[in-house]
Amino acid sequence: MTAYRGPVFEMAVKQFEVIANYLGIPDDARPRLLLPKRSVTVSCPIHRDDGTTAVFEGYRVQHHLTLGPTKGGTRFAPTVDLGEVAALAIWMSWKCALVGLPYGGAKGGINVDPSSLSKRELEALSRRYMQEMIPFVGPHTDVMAPDLGTNEQIMAWFMDTYSMYQGQTVTEIVTGKPVSAGGTLGRREATGRGVAHLVRRAADELKIRLNGATAVVQGFGNVGSIAALELHNMGVKVIAVSDHTGALYQSRGLDIPQLVRHAASQGSLDGYSNELALDPAEMLTMPCDVLVPAAVERVIDAEIAGKLRCRILAEGANGPTTPEADRILEGRQEEIFLIPDILCNSGGVVVSYFEWVQDLQRLFWEEEEVMRREYQLLDRAFERVLARSGRENIFNRTAAMAIGVERVRSAKETRGLFP
Ligand code: GLU
Repeated sequence: MTAYRGPVFEMAVKQFEVIANYLGIPDDARPRLLLPKRSVTVSCPIHRDDGTTAVFEGYRVQHHLTLGPTKGGTRFAPTVDLGEVAALAIWMSWKCALVGLPYGGAKGGINVDPSSLSKRELEALSRRYMQEMIPFVGPHTDVMAPDLGTNEQIMAWFMDTYSMYQGQTVTEIVTGKPVSAGGTLGRREATGRGVAHLVRRAADELKIRLNGATAVVQGFGNVGSIAALELHNMGVKVIAVSDHTGALYQSRGLDIPQLVRHAASQGSLDGYSNELALDPAEMLTMPCDVLVPAAVERVIDAEIAGKLRCRILAEGANGPTTPEADRILEGRQEEIFLIPDILCNSGGVVVSYFEWVQDLQRLFWEEEEVMRREYQLLDRAFERVLARSGRENIFNRTAAMAIGVERVRSAKETRGLFP
């Protein structure tokens, strides 16, 4: 029995079972690796602008505390529930372990559509959520960050609320803050840049010339828009992009810098062009060299997996591919090179780690230094995943997860049962 439910949590369990079977982890050792160490559910009341009171449910799940503090983003979305947050926390653990960060995984969120709130209401909710979390988080216990539906401003409110209660400024409680409030250069771009960097590494492996290659990017938030821009700057024709308002297509390649400006000023892709509109359902299965799902979980199911026509699948989102789809993609490894989510989008948490280190030391780096170190960690992880999948003749996801799970397991074995 567990308190965690729902399709996303079940997906994290199934993925783990595949790896545990592959690694031959005994049954009695599995729950200790998989089940979160602790989770908190809080009620966050706010005054609405119309004078009424509303209560929103918030969560934080800390997966394991064996390697250091837990680390992970905070999601504001109407789909958020305890099971989804737990799954995302578990994935953060494998991700941090794969790239070698001294963290366990965590995730938090509030069940809310942030676009339904005014700026004042959003600030009140963000501050109240952090205030409710104060007993459970800290720079050496659990460090928050942005995720879907949250941004730098919200991180600044989190940091400020925590700091007010401590009586001093504690920038290291949260990463993904604005540079003006103790953030690092290069954090905002880190995830998207990392995705594009790994696409380049994969293209080199496959001997695909990126100049003139085509890409499709699903999701135009912080990850998708920056990944699209970086690919565009590498000479890739980004032929289709989408967000929750719709999709756009242009065979000669979309004007990505202009789309990024439009999304920044309008808040979404909506209103950019009627002529270029595309049915979002067609996006994922379009022929292209690089497909970047950078939106939400479970968009590639078994049926879509069988129809994909890309050569590189770069998972910018967390958990975009279901375990059933994985079985199909495993059989299509010769055609489609997978950069699994815990590797592909890990540039974000890597630079969050750099932000935390800089905040703790009160010593800030140049952007070039941040990027150089980000790519260094990503390159090492990419090479380890490829070496393992080649050596053991396994799927890239199996290799990436096996490395992550083994690291957590060996830390737990070395330390003993307590942490
Ligand atoms: N939410 C991001 C992720 O899923 C970033 C987490 C972080 O920077 O701590 O990887």
